[in-house]
Formats: sequence, C-alpha cells, structure tokens
Amino acid sequence: MTGKTHIIGGIAASLAYAYFSGSDPVILTGAGIIGALLPDICHGGSKIGKQLPIISKIINLIFGHRSFTHSILFLVIIAFLMKTFLPYETVTAGLIVGMVSHYILDMGTRSGIQLFFPIDFRVRFPLTTKTGSMAENVIFSVLALVSFYYGYHALSFYL
Ligand SMILES: [Zn+2]
Repeated sequence: MTGKTHIIGGIAASLAYAYFSGSDPVILTGAGIIGALLPDICHGGSKIGKQLPIISKIINLIFGHRSFTHSILFLVIIAFLMKTFLPYETVTAGLIVGMVSHYILDMGTRSGIQLFFPIDFRVRFPLTTKTGSMAENVIFSVLALVSFYYGYHALSFYL
C-alpha cells in the first residue's frame, strides 16, 4: 500500500477508535497517523524512511522489508517503550491503532507481512491487491468515507 493509503487508514481507524472509546479524537488521530507510517521505516522509499534515512537503512539491512517492523513483536516493543518513557495513554493507543491499521492494509497485498517475526511465515488475506492499483484506490475511498463518518461524530467530543 502507498503512504497515502496508510495515512487515511490510520485516520479512519483512529477516529473509529476515538468514537468507541471516548478518547480525544485529535490527539488519537495525530498519534494514529504516526503509527500508520511507522512500520514502513524498514523501507527507504517510504514517507518515514525518507525522514529517517539512516535508521531506515539499518533496519532494512538487518531485517529486510515487512518483517520485524510489521510484527506483533514490534507492536509490543513500541507499547512497552511508550509505557516506560512517554506514559500517555491516548498517544499510545493512537500509535497502536495506527500500526494495526498498517498491518491490516499490508495483509491485503500479495507479499503480505511477517506478523509473527522471527517466525518466517507471511500473513496475507486470501484476496490481495497490488500497491497503487485500482483496488487500492477503492480501499482509499472507502477509508476516506469512514474517516468522514467518524470525523463528523468526533465533533461532538468538543461540542
Ligand atoms: Zn508496510
């Protein structure tokens, strides 16, 4: 999936989570967007990889693409680091929700993700799409609609 789809996926998931949890939608969504981009740090051409080229290169060399940073292990490590160094529940929740949205979207691509890293097994949905395909545009549009729906409801948090 492209960075654009991951961002809208993070927004949709965060706003939906905010709606059901009653958390602050703006903080949650801000963290959710970062979480949605974070896993692709293993890929130098990604939005976050371009921001942090050296870290990205190191992770890519050690783990390769869509392995460690697309796993439950990485999710647990991030949650642990947040709990230890930045214990702010809404931000942590947003990061996790964003990362999970990223994993789910990448499971919809042919190469899937190594969800159970270090176990060498790739998880993907029975139906997959190619990055940048027509199907991805449809997914993007649906996620945009979901974002508008929950974004509209998010207004009530402040009113
Ligand atoms: Zn990815």
